[in-house]
Amino acid sequence: MPMHDHHHHTSGEHAHGPDGACAHAHEHAARAPEALARAEDECRSRGERLTPVRRRVLEALYATHKPLSAYDIAEILPPEAGGKRLSAVSIYRALDFLITGGFVHRLESRNAFVACPSRHAPGEVVVFMICERCGGVDERHSEKLRAALAEISDANGFEPRARIIELNGACAHCREGA
Ligand SMILES: [Zn+2]
Ligand SMILES: [Zn+2]
Repeated sequence: MPMHDHHHHTSGEHAHGPDGACAHAHEHAARAPEALARAEDECRSRGERLTPVRRRVLEALYATHKPLSAYDIAEILPPEAGGKRLSAVSIYRALDFLITGGFVHRLESRNAFVACPSRHAPGEVVVFMICERCGGVDERHSEKLRAALAEISDANGFEPRARIIELNGACAHCREGA
């Protein structure tokens, strides 16, 4: 598998391998061991445990740049010893834990989940750019948006449960290829 040192989440670019395959997945996979180790450390320091199920769910999300539903995750994960697949309920439980911990975000519009590529404050505004052609999702943050949203919600005494903005459209790469 070709490795790309290029890091689209900070550069804003979108690399493709020589075979034309999107490099997102490779990048995510390449960062997965580091991210999983970090998740384990963080859980430990909070007195929590990244159980095998939680870890496997997080791994599955790191292996792709596409949002996955709980059912997608159940299909992807290899069966447990004894040949049983993880139930949707145990996957949802693991996802709840990972979301609360800030390791995973939920895309409300599609009830699907993505691994967070960076560590940021829980209250940070998350902007997702969701490509309707390749299915890829990129995550960005904006201090200006955070301030603007805080101003609106404060002025109305509103307490947001989540601060997630979803932009649907076409990514730079798909637009180039069009
Ligand atoms: Zn994030
Ligand atoms: Zn795209």
